[in-house]
Amino acid sequence: MNQILRDKIKELQQKSRTLEPTDKERESITQKAVDYSNRYYGELPHKKMYIKPSETGSEDFTFVEAATPMNELLSVVKDKVETGGITSASKGHLGYIPGSGLYPSALGDFLAAITNEYAGVAFAGPGAVKMEEGCVKWLCNLIGYPDSAGGNLTSGGSIANLVALVNARDDAEISSQDYHKTVIYTTRQAHHCLLKAIKFAGLRDGHLRLIEMDKQFRMKTGHLITQIKQDRQQGLIPLMIFASAGTTDVGAVDPLEEIAKIAKENEAWFHVDAAYGGGFLLTDYGQKIMRGIEKADSVTIDPHKSLFLPYGTGALLVKNVEKLYASQHMQANYLQDTYQQTEYSPADLSPELTKHFRGMRMWLPLKLFGIAPFRHALNEKLLLTRYAYKALKKIDYVQVGPEPDLSIMYFRYVPQEADANEFNKKLIEQIHQDGRVFLSSTHIEGTVYIRLAILSFRTHLETIDQTIEMIKEIVGKLSSHEAMA
Ligand SMILES: *Cc1c(COP(=O)(O)O)cnc(C)c1O
Repeated sequence: MNQILRDKIKELQQKSRTLEPTDKERESITQKAVDYSNRYYGELPHKKMYIKPSETGSEDFTFVEAATPMNELLSVVKDKVETGGITSASKGHLGYIPGSGLYPSALGDFLAAITNEYAGVAFAGPGAVKMEEGCVKWLCNLIGYPDSAGGNLTSGGSIANLVALVNARDDAEISSQDYHKTVIYTTRQAHHCLLKAIKFAGLRDGHLRLIEMDKQFRMKTGHLITQIKQDRQQGLIPLMIFASAGTTDVGAVDPLEEIAKIAKENEAWFHVDAAYGGGFLLTDYGQKIMRGIEKADSVTIDPHKSLFLPYGTGALLVKNVEKLYASQHMQANYLQDTYQQTEYSPADLSPELTKHFRGMRMWLPLKLFGIAPFRHALNEKLLLTRYAYKALKKIDYVQVGPEPDLSIMYFRYVPQEADANEFNKKLIEQIHQDGRVFLSSTHIEGTVYIRLAILSFRTHLETIDQTIEMIKEIVGKLSSHEAMA
């Protein structure tokens, strides 16, 4: 009887053995992936920036019992994934918030998956946890936080902002009966993930105050003070001031130093959403414009934005990490072996337990290249933005927004006769069709603008020159059409 069972088990072992490729098989599929990446990098500089998606359905990605050769799978990736939408890794990505994707991060992910180190709990993966802590501590230093600071690498900025709000809520020790009395202060420029966070944190019955902004879309602290005073007089609780260090839409940096003071006086949690702007703290200019960020109770930074990492890496940093621990920590019977640890694990500081070992994809490029080239690249982005701003301003009938705080600016073409909004909608359509670079549009108080966001480490002077030329060309074409119509 036992022999039959043993034979059956052996048979299953034999039938599933392909899950562990032999050395030769492994080499062969790895080489094909490397060949793919080499081909990709070769084509990247010439790729069209925006490609209309082909007819792809999820049925193209379903599974069958039998194996499929690696070559065939890479063809699927090439035809169905790589082609269509925005070419995110390209130097010509100047829309939304550009990502870029550092090559060594791919190797970091590769090694993280191979070792499958457990980055959630120090007991299980002490080295992996320390590596992530090293990344977090370095970001804390960049902010100018004291040693008491800590945090967590998240999947992105939305989750980091959510955890920050939950931390503020828990730290205020407000009973759920009083949630309707809470007030969050921000501006219309805040990222929409704040609204999601409010919903997830159960604070929808509370109040959201959209504080007035100056001409550069920075929070007006005078209005903030008045509003808080009014709210307190009505018995409401100022829970959090949600400031931005680089808004997604126009890149505005709120006056952090002044807001810090107001938050302190009113015992409100001060959060800075630097998801986009945070990386610029590597530059002297960034340090200057974001002065006061070190006074925030918590800060969000997305290394997948201004540190050029591939998508899927954000960070929440909290000035007093014990507060984050108090908000996020839980115990479970089946984790009892892990409690002998005296230090904090990522699982104690976030909603996640088992998670992607994100530290490896951040640590590897920053160590391999050193920090210096990152600083130079970010300074280059700042200057490129000022260069583009000046060049666009010089084009007849182009109206630019305010001088950019960081590396996002916006502009529009104001035709002499035609409707400006319609014209700029056409302009952005034409830019997408042209495909040399990708820009996106927005509307600010009912007016359509075109945004230019410069953040990829691959974007250099020639791309910006090309962008200016392209805009001139398309504007010329469109306005001569208008004139004929
Ligand atoms: C991108 C962004 C977010 C959202 O971050 P994700 O990583 O996309 O989740 C939040 N705030 C700001 C200012 C951003 O630019």
